[in-house]
This record gives sequence, C-alpha cells and structure tokens, in this order.
Amino acid sequence: HLDTRVPNGGRDEVGQLSASFNRMAQALEEAEQAQRRLVASVAHELRTPLSNLLGYLEALQDGVVPPSRELFGSLHDEVLLQRRILDDLQDLTLAESGHLAYRRTGFDLAELVETSRVAHLAVAEAAGVALSAEAVGPLPVHGDQDRLRQVLGNLATNALRYTDPGGHVVLRAFPADGHAVVEVRDTGCGIAEEDLPFVFQRFWRADPARDRETGGSGLGLTIARQIVLDHAGTIEVSSTPGVGSTFRVTFPLVEAGS
Ligand code: ADP
Repeated sequence: HLDTRVPNGGRDEVGQLSASFNRMAQALEEAEQAQRRLVASVAHELRTPLSNLLGYLEALQDGVVPPSRELFGSLHDEVLLQRRILDDLQDLTLAESGHLAYRRTGFDLAELVETSRVAHLAVAEAAGVALSAEAVGPLPVHGDQDRLRQVLGNLATNALRYTDPGGHVVLRAFPADGHAVVEVRDTGCGIAEEDLPFVFQRFWRADPARDRETGGSGLGLTIARQIVLDHAGTIEVSSTPGVGSTFRVTFPLVEAGS
C-alpha cells in the first residue's frame, strides 16, 4: 500500500492544492477497494454454480449416478445461472459507468404494466400465486421501454418468487404529483427491517442458500435501481416480515404536448 497523502500546509494555495490532492487520492483508494470487493464477490458467486457443475460431472464420470434427463436438467440450470450472473454483471457495469445505451421514446407506462402482468401469468400460475393489475392511465413517460420492462419484470419475478402458493401479487400504476407511480405489492415472506437498507446492493440476499436455489443472480435489484435512476426516477421498498413487501417506483410524467 502506497501512502500518497501530502502534508497539508494550511490555507494558502499550496495548502488548498494539497487538500484537493488528498481528496483525490482518497477517492482513488476507495474506488480501488470497491473494485477489489467486486472481484471477490464475483469470484465467490461464480464458484458455487461451478462447483455444483463439477460435482455433477465427476459423479457422472465415476458412474456414481447414471445419466438421466433430470441430471442434465440440473447441469443446464447451473450453466444458465452462470450466464445470468455474467449477463447481469455486464449490464450493471455498463449502467454504472453510464455506458448502457438507452433508446428512449415516449410511451404509456400503464400499458407496460398491463403487458407485464400478461407476461408473468404463466409463472404466477406455476407458483400458485394470483397476479392482478390495476393501471390508471394513460401515464405518458419518456424512456427506454425495454429497460423499464426489465425493471417491472424483475420486481414482478421477485414478488412471485418470494410469495407462497395461495398468495397475491398486485401490480398498480397511477399518477401522483406529476409522476407515474408503479407499485408491485406481494403477500410474500417480506424482508426484515434491518435488511431493508441492503436490498439494492449487489449480490445481497436475505437467505443466500435459499435465494440461490430460486435461480437469482442477486443483481436484479441493483440493476433495476440503476435503470430507474437513469430515468430520473425513484425506487423504494417497504415490507413487513410475514405479511408482504411493496416496491414502489416513480418516473416523471411527460406533460401533454411537450
Ligand atoms: P435475486 O436475483 O437473488 O432475487 P435481487 O437483487 O432481485 O436478487 O433481490 C435481492 C434479494 O432481496 C433477494 O435475494 C431476496 O432476499 C430479497 N427480495 C427481493 N424481492 C423480494 C420480495 N418481493 N420479497 C421478499 N424478499 C425479496
């Protein structure tokens, strides 16, 4: 570790210069630390599906388990998870460095919420969860429709994933204070209050073992948050363990005629 700090010489120009140099050095050091943490977590995240894959292959090779449809299905799942993690990571890196190309157009967010519901009906049915939508439109917004669909899809998928059979997921969209509001509410397991500050952090999971089984990369909400911020929007969550969670996203409404 190199100490790049310059002694601060006071309030004159040289003093100010050294102070600003020290701030830069500290920012650089923090960026490097963040980089190291990211590399460590990526390695950690990829190691699990890779170890599983290796375990399956060795068992096959040693004849411990016979080849079967089910086994190949598991192999396939592990490879898919690795690809998801890498795809998500690429999205996130591009988004965080401001290099994710957005193709922005004007469109109705209320319609997007409706189509999002239809797109998730099959998953909802498989999960035994009722999925409904209440959209009060039109909600004209300006943004990248595919990326906002990705955000809604991520919230809807999570809601369905963390809700037991017999539960409900409701997608709502309505105008409020010059904004389009989208809420994804579920009657699922909920998130503990002390965990709420972490849900948008990369690779954070309430229950790593269980949540990994559901096929998530742990990056979905981090990417969703970045996309929302890039659309001048806000995203927040409220939750009561055992009762359910509500994710709330807002985007500026486009004035009619502008
Ligand atoms: P993942 O791909 O693992 O779902 P996300 O970034 O989408 O990653 O979510 C991070 C974590 O937040 C999840 O692993 C889960 O623990 C928690 N979480 C997200 N959405 C919900 C929800 N609707 N209900 C309960 N927990 C949730």
